[in-house]
Amino acid sequence: MIPQVVWFKRDLRLHDHAPLCAAVARGPVLPLYVFEPELWQQPDASFRHWSFTRDSLQELDETLQGLGGKLIVRHGSIVSALTQLQREIGRFDLHSHEETGNDWTFARDREVAVWCRENGIHWNESPTNGVVRRLRERDGWAAARNAVMTAPQRPAPAAMHFISSASEPLPAADDARVGEIEGRVQRGGRRDGLKVLSSFLDDRSRNYMRSISKPGVSARHCSRLSAHLAYGTLSAREVDQAAAHRMQELDESNDPSIGYWPRQIAAFRARLAWRCHFVQKLEQQPSIEFRCMHPAFEAMRSDGHREDFFDAWCNGQTGYPLIDACMRSLRANGWITFRMRALVVSFASYQLWLDWRRTGPVLARLFTDYEPGIHYSQLQMQSGVTGINAVRLYNPVKQSLEHDTEGKFIRRYVPELADLPTEFIHAPWQLAAPPAGYPMRIVDHEHAAREARQRMAPYWREESFREQAKAVFRKLGSRNRPPERRKRRGARSVAPPEPQLDLDLQG
Ligand SMILES: Cc1cc2nc3c(=O)[nH]c(=O)nc-3n(C[C@H](O)[C@H](O)[C@H](O)COP(=O)(O)OP(=O)(O)OC[C@H]3O[C@@H](n4cnc5c(N)ncnc54)[C@H](O)[C@@H]3O)c2cc1C
Repeated sequence: MIPQVVWFKRDLRLHDHAPLCAAVARGPVLPLYVFEPELWQQPDASFRHWSFTRDSLQELDETLQGLGGKLIVRHGSIVSALTQLQREIGRFDLHSHEETGNDWTFARDREVAVWCRENGIHWNESPTNGVVRRLRERDGWAAARNAVMTAPQRPAPAAMHFISSASEPLPAADDARVGEIEGRVQRGGRRDGLKVLSSFLDDRSRNYMRSISKPGVSARHCSRLSAHLAYGTLSAREVDQAAAHRMQELDESNDPSIGYWPRQIAAFRARLAWRCHFVQKLEQQPSIEFRCMHPAFEAMRSDGHREDFFDAWCNGQTGYPLIDACMRSLRANGWITFRMRALVVSFASYQLWLDWRRTGPVLARLFTDYEPGIHYSQLQMQSGVTGINAVRLYNPVKQSLEHDTEGKFIRRYVPELADLPTEFIHAPWQLAAPPAGYPMRIVDHEHAAREARQRMAPYWREESFREQAKAVFRKLGSRNRPPERRKRRGARSVAPPEPQLDLDLQG
C-alpha cells in the first residue's frame, strides 16, 4: 500500500481532521511536521507563535504515541523534506489542509504543488473550516460555510497503521530562529483548548457581551479560543457545534437565573462566522496582506510617517494611558480584546497617521493568535482603507472613560500612573505637573483626528471611488445586511452598502 504522508501545519489535532481521515482510509500513515526556519524568520512571525505551536506539537506527538506511532519532525524547507522522504519511503500520497496564510506560505504551497506534479505525488488538500478555495465572488459563500459548520465532525481515528521514519527534535521554545522571548504566552495543545472551551461555555460566557470591550475583565469573559482556532488544536466546526449545543441546553432549561445567557453564546457564534468571513477575504485576495482593499487609499499614508510616533506607539509611550496600557499588556500577555485592538490600530492610523503596513507586523508578532486573514482585514477596516466599511475614529479618552472607568487596567500596566487620582487617569496631561517618568501626550488627539478627517475626505469624493468600492464589495463584502436594509433591497441584493464616511469620533 502506498504510504500516506499527513503534513500538519496550522491544524494541530487528530479530531475532525479530514486529511488524516482520508490518509487512514488509504494506507499506512506518516504524520509529518516540518520546522521551516524561513517561515519563522518572516516579519510577522514570533516566538509566541512558535511556543504555542510547540506545545501543541508535543501533545500531538504524545497522542500519536498512544496510538503506536509518533510525529515525524524534520527541519528545513518542506520541498527538501518531501524529497528526502521520497528517497526513504518511495512514492507516497500527501495530505494536508488548505492553508490561508501569509504570502510566504502561499508561495511555499505553490512550490509544493509544482514539486508534487513533477514527482508524480498525489496531493490531497482538504478545505479548512468554512473557507472556500477558488471562490470568485461572495454570493452563496455563507450557505457553503454554514453547511460545513453543521456537517458531522470526523472523530479522531481510534487506530491506524504507521510508517516509522527518523525524526529530529523540536527546536526549543527559545530557539534563536524564532526571536526573543518577551512576556507570557498562552499555553498551546488540544487538552488546554478543550478546557478553555468548556470553561467558557459552562461558566465564563455568562458575561461575554458585557465584558467583551472592557480591557480589565475581557481576558476572563471572552472565550480565549483564538489561538486554538488559529493553530487548529480545535476545529472551528467543533467549537461552533459545542456552542450550538450549549445554547440549546440553556434555551431548554427552566432555571430563571439563565436570563440572557443564550444570547451571549449566539453573539460568540456570530464571531465564529466573522472569523471564516475574514479568512475568506484573504483566501480570495492574498494581496490584502500588502495592498489596500480600495486602491484609492494605496498611497494615502505614504507622506508624513513619523518614526518617533511609531516607536512611542510600539513601546506604550504615547502619553495616552489606555493606548499605552494596551500595548504594554499585549507585550506582557500576547492578547488584548477586540475593542482594544481596534482602538490601538485606529489611534495609530488616524491620530498618528501611521500606515497599517508598518503597524500590522508589530501586532502580528505580539498576538499569540495571529491569523493572517482576520488580521489584515481588520487592520484595513480599522485604518479606513477598505472603502466598504464605515470609517471609525475612536476617541482614546472617551474609550478609556467608558471601558476602564476607574483606571484599574491602566494602573496595572502603566505603573507610573498608579497613584494618580481617577479624575486624571484618562488624560494626565491635564495635571499641572505631569506624572514622573510618564511622557507628555505625543499628539493632541482631537486636533490629530480633525487633520485625519481632512486628509481622508478628498479620497471619498473622487469620481471613480464608488465604482471601485462596488468592485471591492462584490469580491469581499459580507452579504449579511442589517434586517431593515435587507428588507429594502431584497435579501439577495448584492448591492454594496453606500460607502460611508462617518468621521465623527466614535464612542
Ligand atoms: C486590528 C485587529 C487585528 C486582529 N487580529 C486578529 C488575529 O490575528 N487573530 C485573531 O484570531 N483575531 C484577530 N482579531 C479579532 C479579535 O480581536 C480576536 O479574534 C479576539 O479578540 C480573540 O479573543 P477571543 O478568542 O477571546 O475572542 P471571542 O470574542 O471569544 O471570539 C471567538 C472567536 O471568534 C473570532 N473572532 C472574534 N472577533 C472577531 C472579529 N472581530 N473578526 C473575526 N473573527 C473574530 C476569533 O476566532 C475568536 O477566537 C483582530 C482584531 C483587530 C481589531
